[in-house]
Amino acid sequence: MADCNETLRELEAFLDGELPVDTRESVHTHLEGCMDCLQAFDFHAELRTVVREKCRNDEIPPGLLAKIEQCFGEDFDGDGVIG
Ligand SMILES: [Zn+2]
Repeated sequence: MADCNETLRELEAFLDGELPVDTRESVHTHLEGCMDCLQAFDFHAELRTVVREKCRNDEIPPGLLAKIEQCFGEDFDGDGVIG
């Protein structure tokens, strides 16, 4: 089973639907047992929906999404998982 760091690393590809089926399965399995990752995935999924709705008629500027996620990403690293 994948650990948290591995799962979070697959987050983008997972939300983009770019993961192979077996990787999706192991991400799903991890999320069922890990509230931290589940919340992170939920949050990012919702963030994408909001950004997409706000930008429905516009292109999302390159790097904007990454920048937003970077801001929130600091939270994930701040809970003692790394370091
Ligand atoms: Zn986890």
